[in-house]
Amino acid sequence: MTSRAIELVAKAIAGSPKVVVLTGAGISQESGVPTFRGNDGLWKNFRAEELATPQAFEKDPVLVWKWYDWRRGLIKPLKPNAGHRALVDLERKVEDFTLVTQNVDGLHKVAGSRNPVEIHGTIWRLRCVECSQTFENRDVPIKILPKCESCGGLLRPDVVWFGESLDERMLSKVYGCLQRAQVMLIVGTSGVVQPAASFGIVAKRGGAFVAELNRSRTPQSSLFDLSIQGKAGEVLPELARRVK
Ligand code: NAD
Ligand code: ZN
Repeated sequence: MTSRAIELVAKAIAGSPKVVVLTGAGISQESGVPTFRGNDGLWKNFRAEELATPQAFEKDPVLVWKWYDWRRGLIKPLKPNAGHRALVDLERKVEDFTLVTQNVDGLHKVAGSRNPVEIHGTIWRLRCVECSQTFENRDVPIKILPKCESCGGLLRPDVVWFGESLDERMLSKVYGCLQRAQVMLIVGTSGVVQPAASFGIVAKRGGAFVAELNRSRTPQSSLFDLSIQGKAGEVLPELARRVK
């Protein structure tokens, strides 16, 4: 079944110049990055939802920074996997290819994806809470608390926390791509974090063929044209190979 489904997606992609791929934490799981919704995502018994919020940072920036420092230390030595690399391969074969990721680990860029739209930001960039200037930073461990070089303000990870909204210009660009897409592939996301959870539906309404790839079924599986159950690191290379 999986092989036939992969063939179907490969054919759809091969005949379509406009392809959008959305990735979530599942694509980085085989690189060793913990996903949020599993016990491996826990840190000192805190859940991500308790730490990745503006309220948590306001109340206890040291605690939030210690958690990010732990995650940055965990992710820094990790390498992109066959799934990330297959998307680089696919990008070379498709005329108009947009990669949108919810991941903040930066692994798509390390793999060589040209211009992934990191809708939730990246843990490798910091932003001043006072003057909004941003700074690339890969220090592990990081000096807690990090301060802005320009104004001395407190720096935070330049990521989108629970309860915060996404950059509007970036979001409208993404919606434009989704509406024009002929094929959309959704990889390794549980489909519960908005607005990304609605992207597949937007593409489908716009007429795209939408396929989901996940290790298990998700609440959204039945909404799409195809749902492939499998590991991103195994299915994506097979898919990329079959797209001529
Ligand atoms: P999630 O943790 O909610 O869901 C991960 C999904 O991936 C699950 O549905 C799971 O079944 C699937 N999965 C796990 N391993 C897989 C594999 N090898 N192949 C295919 N599918 C696999 O993640 P989410 O939906 O991305 O939402 C969580 C939010 O947390 C996002 O906003 C994201 O920014 C953030 N987050 C990012 C990272 C990262 O940067 N790597 C890690 C954890 C969470
Ligand atoms: Zn500043």
